[in-house]
Amino acid sequence: TANPQGDRELLARRRATLGPHSPTFYDEPLHVVSGQGVWLRGADGIDYLDAYNNVPHVGHCNPVVVRAIAEQAGRLNIHTRYLSEPVVEYAEALLETFAPHLDKVLFTNSGSEANELALRMTRQHTRSTGVLVTDFSYHGNTASLAELTTGLRVKEPFGSHVRALHIPDLDSDPRSEEVLLTEALAEAEAAIASLKEAGHGVSALLFDPLFSTEGLLRPPAGYIAALTDLVRSAGGLIVADEVQSGLGRAGSHFWGHELYGIAPDLVTLGKPLGNGHPLGGVVTTTDLLDEFGAANLYFNTFAGNPVSAAAGMAVLRETIDRGLQRGAHDVGSYAHDLLEKLAARQPLVRAVRGTGLFFGLDFVDETGRPATAQTKQIVEAMRRKGVLISKIGPHDNVLKIRPPMVFTREHVDLLVDRLAASLDEL
Ligand code: PMP
Repeated sequence: TANPQGDRELLARRRATLGPHSPTFYDEPLHVVSGQGVWLRGADGIDYLDAYNNVPHVGHCNPVVVRAIAEQAGRLNIHTRYLSEPVVEYAEALLETFAPHLDKVLFTNSGSEANELALRMTRQHTRSTGVLVTDFSYHGNTASLAELTTGLRVKEPFGSHVRALHIPDLDSDPRSEEVLLTEALAEAEAAIASLKEAGHGVSALLFDPLFSTEGLLRPPAGYIAALTDLVRSAGGLIVADEVQSGLGRAGSHFWGHELYGIAPDLVTLGKPLGNGHPLGGVVTTTDLLDEFGAANLYFNTFAGNPVSAAAGMAVLRETIDRGLQRGAHDVGSYAHDLLEKLAARQPLVRAVRGTGLFFGLDFVDETGRPATAQTKQIVEAMRRKGVLISKIGPHDNVLKIRPPMVFTREHVDLLVDRLAASLDEL
């Protein structure tokens, strides 16, 4: 660090105002001052390769997005109770990217708000409250989402109306695909029965199609489709939380749920949608929205305002016009191949995980136990070598590599080179 004294003072002021638990990454927090494309400039004058951040979807400070925000902010910004073009144009363009039955959208300011609203809609439709989530998942910071959080430290008691499913994972469980599938579906049936028995019924399955917090799990083929069938037969709706998995990141598909060939009733959006401008949404069907609207007025002061809509539109245009989904597929496959080669000579690696531009290595020690400490060391070593990544999973032993979508093969080469060096240092 160029100015360690200055950084310590800034950290002290942060703690004095935001509280001692306001989290930062790394043993020594990284002080950043600007960003461009896949690069973050540190206060130390170093340009860090950003292989972690998905919010700057089309690149840090993407000039098209910056211009769209600035121009709209200079023209008009107001809530949505007057008629204006941007929110309508953006809604039309966004809905074009979904299957035809998903033809309505309600905008929000965050992923949490989107999930909160989606759960309200599922309760309204099903007149039930029971929710199925997955083990070690995260869906947001509101009171009702805290009650169903299994993945981050949250003090709220786990809701009596919630059941968490263990997601079968082919990369860590040596048993056969059939055994895993049968066992997992039996568990889901038992969870549904228990919700009914307790009088909650089943309102929703809420899940992240890439298992972003859970550690990029790889369930047996057919598991997700069979699970959603079970939930539907029990009267519940399917909510795909695409806050992390959507907008082309999965590479082979524009939306993560499409990986499984399922048709969710609701899809929730956030993080990358506005490239950092706060923007989220719930995409759903006409029937569900009409039913919800007949019983509730949904009003949201900031969501879908002209500036947010302009930001969203610019991000979507950039994503589509620059073929970033295709890029995520190509660059992600390239990374996957290089990581497989690296894994072959590194005993610590159990699996190369992930899809498209969201991938990581799963580390276990010689006894097969999660290599939590080594994973942390690697994340720290990577930062010292100028590359930003992180870690996920219940044991924090899976690298989280999820760069802006403008990441290229050259960036992958640099990433893998530094990763190999970090592993060698262990
Ligand atoms: N869902 C998922 C899958 C997430 O990863 C997050 C944020 N990490 C959220 C929802 C909540 O989004 P936000 O922080 O915008 O409220």
